[in-house]
Amino acid sequence: MTYISPEKLADDAKNVLEELNARIEPLKPKDRMAIPAQEMPSQDPAVRRGNMEEVALGYTPEQAKLEAERCLQCKNAPCIAGCPVAIDIPGFIQAIADGDNLKAIDIIKESSLLPAVCGRVCPQESQCQAPCTVGKALKSVGQAVNIGRLERFVADWEREQGLIETPTVKPETGKKVGIIGTGPAGLTVAADVRREGHAVTLFEAFHKPGGVMIYGIPEFRLPKAIVQKEIDTLTAMGCELKTNFVIGRTRKIIDLLEQDGFDALFIGTGAGLPRFMNIEGENLVGVYSANEYLTRSNLMRAYDKERSATPIFESEKVAVLGGGNVAMDAARTAVRLGAKEVHLIYRRTEVEMPARVEEVAHAKEEGVIFHLLENPKRILSDEKGWVSGIECLRYELGAPDDSGRRRPVAIEGSEFEIDLDTVIVAIGNDSNPLIRQTTPGLETNKWGNIIADKTGKTSLDRIFAGGDIVLGAATVILAMGEGRIAAASINKMLVED
Ligand code: FAD
Ligand code: SF4
Ligand code: SF4
Repeated sequence: MTYISPEKLADDAKNVLEELNARIEPLKPKDRMAIPAQEMPSQDPAVRRGNMEEVALGYTPEQAKLEAERCLQCKNAPCIAGCPVAIDIPGFIQAIADGDNLKAIDIIKESSLLPAVCGRVCPQESQCQAPCTVGKALKSVGQAVNIGRLERFVADWEREQGLIETPTVKPETGKKVGIIGTGPAGLTVAADVRREGHAVTLFEAFHKPGGVMIYGIPEFRLPKAIVQKEIDTLTAMGCELKTNFVIGRTRKIIDLLEQDGFDALFIGTGAGLPRFMNIEGENLVGVYSANEYLTRSNLMRAYDKERSATPIFESEKVAVLGGGNVAMDAARTAVRLGAKEVHLIYRRTEVEMPARVEEVAHAKEEGVIFHLLENPKRILSDEKGWVSGIECLRYELGAPDDSGRRRPVAIEGSEFEIDLDTVIVAIGNDSNPLIRQTTPGLETNKWGNIIADKTGKTSLDRIFAGGDIVLGAATVILAMGEGRIAAASINKMLVED
């Protein structure tokens, strides 16, 4: 993909819009499909390699209007079925086309509480944009209406205009709800339950709330100020926040219910336990889990070397193992922390990569070296126990496995080595066992995830759960959607009490 400057994108959009505005006849579907899909303006790759600021800069008003005009307002709206929280997509896009951004954001907020976040990080190309009629007609999902970018545009517009209001809270009911974990699932439950007048206390193990949105996804993809704004709204609504508070250690679930007077609890503790490859050398100095690496950089701001008290190793040559969003985030962070070479090693091909297409493209633009159909065999060490390299095998694709993806098969005798000083393992996360180990009777499945029914209710009375702790590592929008369902169940239960 060739880099186009934000100025050129803005000028092009202005010119096309002027032509459209000069037309007398209304636009027909074929005219709409001829409007060029609007690229996201972004920081120049050569510049952004050296800073942590957001890469994607957001549409100009002209680009947003043009992109909205591409929507055919399909009667069956297949895009809605692709959105896990069923936002009225044609409705909000029509409002943007009409120049009514306030109406657009109101429509989105009926279904989603975190539009500025989801507009940035949702895997749109495999969700709402995948079934879009325009993309299908133009034979490329990349040509679908850019629904997520439009969602981000109106959410940013609302915030920048200072129009975000603290939601009204109903009179106090005297009921207390405890929320464990402050990721998208927990924050959503907090907002929906507090609105009904119940007292809400959020418990967070880290010193800052926000879950993966704060400690995992880097600033250059999701500015922390956007997440902080959501948290400020919750505290303005009267939610109480207790950080550095580990449920299962500081207090157990049973204590909250039996001694601290909580009427209901929601567990939204995510999937923060990193998986490892179990290969030789994984315990060497210089091997990180992506979680540790990203948490040091994001939450402890280790990248701010002059001011941060948290050190991070100044790597020269880094390998990141994995092909998901977490791997891309770790690789792109390593680039920004000054590594001269960043190798991303993935055992399948780019087609099977779970990472978002945009993130893969951005990583390539920033100079990350992709090793596809390769996988590590062992991590090599110097005489002091530090990482000195990695030995890999080449792979080819065989028959499809249970997931429907073709199974990678090692090619015998294809070993080769890469010199390195750092290895970051980014092959997925499981749920932390602490709560399940300290809560007798809480049922979990074979992966250790909490079992919850369709209403978010767990096997224990008055205890609900949702997000990654139930789904396994999933997405922000799915966590938020589960939070909404659980909050509705909690509110219903408390009214009936
Ligand atoms: P989390 O966001 O994990 O929050 C759980 C919170 O609970 C954490 O703050 C944790 O500290 C706290 N906690 C845990 N145990 C306890 C305890 N015992 N007591 C108190 N607090 C506790 N999704 C996308 O949709 N798009 C993306 O681009 C994307 N990129 C990602 C990049 C990275 C690096 C990672 C790690 C994940 C990414 N995801 C992405 C996944 C997404 O962030 C998660 O699916 C989502 O955050 C899950 O939300 P949650 O509320 O269930 O849990
Ligand atoms: Fe698409 Fe996500 Fe927005 Fe739904 S929330 S419309 S999936 S970007
Ligand atoms: Fe618009 Fe695409 Fe949805 Fe049709 S499917 S209403 S074109 S966004």
